[in-house]
Amino acid sequence: MNRVLLVCTFIVACGLSRTVWAQEGDLDPRIVSLVRTVSEQRLGVILKKLESFETRSTLSSTTSTTRGIGAARQWIFDELRSYSPKLNVTFDTYQVAKQGRITREVELRNVMAILPGRSPRRIYVSGHYDTVARAGGQSTANAGGPAPDPDARSVPPADPNAPLDNLAPGVNDDGSGTALTIELARIFSQSGIDFDATLVFMCHVGEEQGLLGARLHAQKAVAEKIPIEAILNNDIVGNDKGGNGIIDGATIRVYAEGPEDSPSRELARFVQRWGGRYVPSHKVRPMARPDRFGRGGDHSAYNQLGFTAVGFRESRENFIRQHDVRDTFEGISLPYLAQNARVNAAAAATLALAPPPPSVTNERGQPQITRAPSGYDATLKWTAAPGASAYRIFWREAWGPDWQHELLVGNVTALVLPDMQIDDYIFGVAAVDAAGHESFVSAYVTPPRASTEIKTLPQKP
Ligand SMILES: [Zn+2]
Repeated sequence: MNRVLLVCTFIVACGLSRTVWAQEGDLDPRIVSLVRTVSEQRLGVILKKLESFETRSTLSSTTSTTRGIGAARQWIFDELRSYSPKLNVTFDTYQVAKQGRITREVELRNVMAILPGRSPRRIYVSGHYDTVARAGGQSTANAGGPAPDPDARSVPPADPNAPLDNLAPGVNDDGSGTALTIELARIFSQSGIDFDATLVFMCHVGEEQGLLGARLHAQKAVAEKIPIEAILNNDIVGNDKGGNGIIDGATIRVYAEGPEDSPSRELARFVQRWGGRYVPSHKVRPMARPDRFGRGGDHSAYNQLGFTAVGFRESRENFIRQHDVRDTFEGISLPYLAQNARVNAAAAATLALAPPPPSVTNERGQPQITRAPSGYDATLKWTAAPGASAYRIFWREAWGPDWQHELLVGNVTALVLPDMQIDDYIFGVAAVDAAGHESFVSAYVTPPRASTEIKTLPQKP
């Protein structure tokens, strides 16, 4: 009797989900419409507002209501708050002592909007709202010119405590990443979708003085054991015209720290896979390196403390407009920025609806991959991910960056692939829920071996 009831319930549940999924195949129609709600017009309004503060330097004035970082952060806070009562908007505040490029004691405030999910695990979408401008800008620095310190003044200030209020519009660096983050906070909080993961829309500060806002928040996350699963950081993502005249509005770079098959690399592959499915007109170009040469971004602050984070960067930069008074609204392509926002939305929504990635290591951190049972097979084991109803196995030749094969298996935690030599392939597993939402991949990686010192005896004469 009980068994019959269970079977009936199961069939009904499957029948319902099949009806929904018949429309779009691999794609979730709710994510399709979420991606469609990204508004070029809204991105433009936000960018013009950010530009209107004239400077958002971390060291600028906080007293004016229309100019400087005080006015800017309050506007971002109020704007995020206006979107939905579901969004929990706060200042993530730190008192920072004078050090490095911080020329005086200063209060740093990241602006953070949390959209609570069913579970505490967090997915971040972020940018930095602070700006900097210096004589010559980034193009002079690229050419080996002076002013390595972005806040160096040509004349020492009479008063070291005076605010740094020179014009620094920062519409692309990083108004673009900030506007993208704010726009995603709007569409996610108004989507009506019940996400499993908690989404965090984070506008960092102090990036131009050494990733300070991101470092402080990452340190807090470590201390308070905040379960950050992934960070999609966007910095300089709004311009499609290279300073050398080459135009590319159809691709975006995603930088991911190694080593190969690190969680950040898997996150970049995930963005390519799911961004490419929901936004096929935009090509994601994963970059197997932490960032551009000699340049940095907030995702690295998270990487350094062990978090999984990638950095989105426009494909063709115009250095003349970076860290310069010419970083204005005229340098922005709204259609391009909107495409980058859509890729972020698709990746963040898929991650937040999917189960967390399964663990493929044992308690000692060793990958659960063996040659059992024959001695010549591939046996993969993993730990069940909460909410998963299936798993997708990926593999590729041990030389090469992209997954070549995939296989969907049921709700199991082990698989044998007969006669597959584990030494010849890289294997990974993603968790999949009943509706097809997929996590990023956990790969089977050999941990680096420590070198052991060999005891020797004195040389014989
Ligand atoms: Zn930047």
